[in-house]
Amino acid sequence: MTSTELANETSVTIPSPASPYQGDIARYWDQEARPVNLRLGDVDGLYHHHYGIGDVDRAALGPADDIAYEKKLVAELHRLESAQTGVLLDQLGSIGRDDTLVDAGCGRGGSMVMAHQRFGCKTEGVTLSAKQADFANRRARELGIDEHVHARVCNMLDTPFETGRAAASWNNESSMYVDLGDLFAEHSRILGRGGRYVTITGCWNPRYGQPSKWVSQINAHFECNIHSRREYLKAMADNRLVPQAIVDLTPATLPYWELRATSSLVTGIEEAFINSYKDGSFQYLMIAADRV
Ligand code: SAH
Repeated sequence: MTSTELANETSVTIPSPASPYQGDIARYWDQEARPVNLRLGDVDGLYHHHYGIGDVDRAALGPADDIAYEKKLVAELHRLESAQTGVLLDQLGSIGRDDTLVDAGCGRGGSMVMAHQRFGCKTEGVTLSAKQADFANRRARELGIDEHVHARVCNMLDTPFETGRAAASWNNESSMYVDLGDLFAEHSRILGRGGRYVTITGCWNPRYGQPSKWVSQINAHFECNIHSRREYLKAMADNRLVPQAIVDLTPATLPYWELRATSSLVTGIEEAFINSYKDGSFQYLMIAADRV
């Protein structure tokens, strides 16, 4: 493992990256500045790098030929992305102000801010990207919540968090970058007994057989490695994480993708998501598990 000294506000010696692949992922997210992420975040200052769920509010969108339509569409996509985080937070159980939560693969920190706003608790995030960690910490300072919300550059498979201290932890669309056995071993270590772990993730469907060509395209686009539903459940069972709820969010995320595909913010990967969700080869899944 190598150490990187960062000459900025995240200036601590951090164990990252642990592998050449993680170096690639750190560079990917350091360079990422897609309008679809930044313009949506600008709506209310919550910056997400994940997808949306829920029905599209057609009344709020209004007619497509209206001059304000594009702006409304951006706001609507953002509303659906924040709704996704809301559904994840709903699964965390009763969290008190003195509790600490861990956001593994925290991106620009939107989910961490929402967690603090809901529970008043402390939220610690880790990301491979120094740019993302700086961004998240700057936002927390601007919001005056930097004592409660903090991001650091760190490998989520090897975090500095104390054993058994976290009340809950999650991966919001970040588990496809790591080996699931290693990931769940680390969540299991940092979570207190009875703590809650939640993931929202795309996974390939074992019923389909093998990863479809669409799933392979998504992997290539994001330089990730989508796991199957079966792998999630196996790795959880191996690491004292017992699923309490498994929710197929695929029907709930399709409206988001179909709306996004009509916008000027398309990134080119929309077709792969829509086709694979429709042919059953790919699923958008939430799993909430108890650390036993
Ligand atoms: N959860 C965030 C960001 C998702 S994007 C959100 O919902 O907005 C994927 C994130 O996973 C990026 O921040 C990336 O840096 C992080 N990531 C990938 N592999 C990681 C690893 N091994 N350790 C820590 N973070 C990792």
